Amino acid sequence: MMRLRNISGSRDVIANSPYVVKEAQQYRGNWADVFGNTNPVYVEVGMGKGQFLHTLASLHPECNYVGIEKYSSVLLRAIQKLEADELSNIRLLRMEAEEIVSVFGKGEAAGIYLNFSDPWPKDRHAKRRLPSAEFLARYDEIVADGGKIEFKTDNRALFDFAVEELARSAWKAEVITYDLHADEKLMQGNVMTEYEEKFSAAGSRICKYVLVRR
Ligand code: SAM
Repeated sequence: MMRLRNISGSRDVIANSPYVVKEAQQYRGNWADVFGNTNPVYVEVGMGKGQFLHTLASLHPECNYVGIEKYSSVLLRAIQKLEADELSNIRLLRMEAEEIVSVFGKGEAAGIYLNFSDPWPKDRHAKRRLPSAEFLARYDEIVADGGKIEFKTDNRALFDFAVEELARSAWKAEVITYDLHADEKLMQGNVMTEYEEKFSAAGSRICKYVLVRR
């Protein structure tokens, strides 16, 4: 009973939230209409409860931010946190990231953020990993010239996989670190994600790369 009520509650909140873009395919090529300006649009794929994007959007009113999350229950938490502020430069999408090219046109994203993506440890699920070559090809379609992909994770196996995948992609690493929090220079301006706070507090090292096109 409780559970049912929660589910219908989250559907209503999502349906009524001005932060959530519905049927986003209709805005493909027209994100300037969504935001009412032509500021650069950065996308976080798998944003979770949105802490990282929320902080970035507060720090950078001159940029726009779109968060993609597949689960309504998680999206709900992101909406609730946003409702305390009034940010005009952030929007959320409830969707599977596999469909990202149906929502953003060629070069429409200024950059992509991947933070603590699900590991999908089984080999047969490798294509579902957000930094896989299949996903890197999707990002290649939608990221503008000069745009970057930034990925952080505590999962060394996933990170090693992500680095190997670059060989069959349009991207190369401009920066790679296996211990972000020990690198004073890279830590300048680092915005912590929820998972990053949790894992770094527990003593895990955080890996990060920044990709540019070859
Ligand atoms: N980025 C946040 C952070 O660093 O704190 C959340 C990390 S959490 C481990 C990964 C999130 O990505 C989950 O909320 C999950 O539902 C979402 N996610 C994973 N794969 C996805 C996909 N293919 N499409 C959309 N969301 C996805």
